[in-house]
Amino acid sequence: MRSYNFSPGPAALPKEVLERAAKEMVEYAGDGMSVMEMSHRSKMYEDIHNAAIDLLRELMAIPDNYKILFLQGGASQQFAMIPMNLKKNGKADFVITGEWSARAYKEASNILEAKVAASSENEKFAFIPEIKEISADADYFHICSNNTITGTRFLEFPDTGDVPLVADMSSGILSEIFDVSKFGLIYAGAQKNIGPAGLTVVIIREDLLERENKIPAFFKYKQHADTNSMLNTPPTYSIYMTKLCLEWLKSKGGVAGIQKNNEAKAKVLYDFLDNSQMFKGIAAKSHRSLMNVPFTTGDEAKDKDFVKAAATAGFVNLGGHRLVGGLRASIYNAMPTEGVQALVDFMEKFEKGK
Ligand SMILES: *Cc1c(COP(=O)(O)O)cnc(C)c1O
Repeated sequence: MRSYNFSPGPAALPKEVLERAAKEMVEYAGDGMSVMEMSHRSKMYEDIHNAAIDLLRELMAIPDNYKILFLQGGASQQFAMIPMNLKKNGKADFVITGEWSARAYKEASNILEAKVAASSENEKFAFIPEIKEISADADYFHICSNNTITGTRFLEFPDTGDVPLVADMSSGILSEIFDVSKFGLIYAGAQKNIGPAGLTVVIIREDLLERENKIPAFFKYKQHADTNSMLNTPPTYSIYMTKLCLEWLKSKGGVAGIQKNNEAKAKVLYDFLDNSQMFKGIAAKSHRSLMNVPFTTGDEAKDKDFVKAAATAGFVNLGGHRLVGGLRASIYNAMPTEGVQALVDFMEKFEKGK
C-alpha cells in the first residue's frame, strides 16, 4: 500500500502519473524503447522535451520574452550560476528568510558583493521581514518565495523597479498563480513541486542573457538558451516525468485549479493546528506557506513519538528539518486533500491518547 508521504523533497508524485509511467516504462508510445534509452537528439525524445517546455509556458503563462531552461545541478547550482551570469556592477541584494536564501547569499558572496537587504534570522525566520531599501545599482534582488524549512512564503512581491527580481521558487512553483513578468529570473529544483529529482528549471527574461561575463561556456545561461537546453545530454527521464506531471496539473484545472485546492487543503491542517491543545503551528499566521507546514508539540520527545506513531499508521516523513527539529508536513500539489484530512484525523486521535 502507498503511504501518505509528507516528504519535503524529493516529494510525493501523483499516483496517476506513476501508473502511466509504469505502463510506458518498457516501450514508449510504439517507439520501440523506453524513454531512458532514447538518444536525446532523436525526434521521439525531442517531442517530449519540447512538449514539457510548452506545457510549463502555458501553465505559468510565461511571456514570450522569457526563456525556459532545463538544467541540472539543483537549485544549489543556481546559487552560483545566477551571480556568475547576472553580474554587472558587482553587487546584489538578498532577503534572508531561511536556510536556502542564506545559502544563496553565501554562494553569491564568492562572486560579487552580496548585501543583506532584510532578514528575519533573529526571529528564527518565523515571518517574511519588511523590505525597507532596494539598492538601485544592484545587479539583482534575490528572494526565496516559499521557505521549505520554516514554512513561510511571500504573499506579495517587492517592487524592485529596474533591478531584476530573482526568486528561488523550488518549493512554491506551480502551487499558486505568479505573475512571471514581475521577475527577471525564477528557478526551482524539480523534486518538490514539478516532477522527480534531476531537473532544475530556470525561467529567465531574455535581456538578462546578454550580460557579458567571462565564465566557462557550460555555466552560461545563453549557451543553454541557444541550444534549447541540449548543450549536453539533458536528464531525459526526469523531463519526461515532468511532462506527465504537467499534463496531470493541466487536467486539474491548471495552476488556478490547483491553487484553489491547495488553499482548501492547507486550511484543513492550519485550522486543526489553531484549535489543538497539543500541536501548534510554527510560522507566523501572516506568512503561512501553502506547501510546507512546520509544527510542534513543544516537547521534543513527544514530537519523536508522534513521528513514529504516524509512520506506523502510514503517514511518513513528518519529522522537521534536521536544522530546526519539530514536525513538518509538506503538502505539495500531488498530496490529495484526503491525505491531509486523514493526517488531521490521526493527529486528533493522537492528541486524545487513542
Ligand atoms: C530544496 C531546496 C533547495 C535545494 O535544492 P537542490 O535542488 O537540492 O539543490 C533550494 N531552495 C529551496 C527553497 C528548496 O526548497
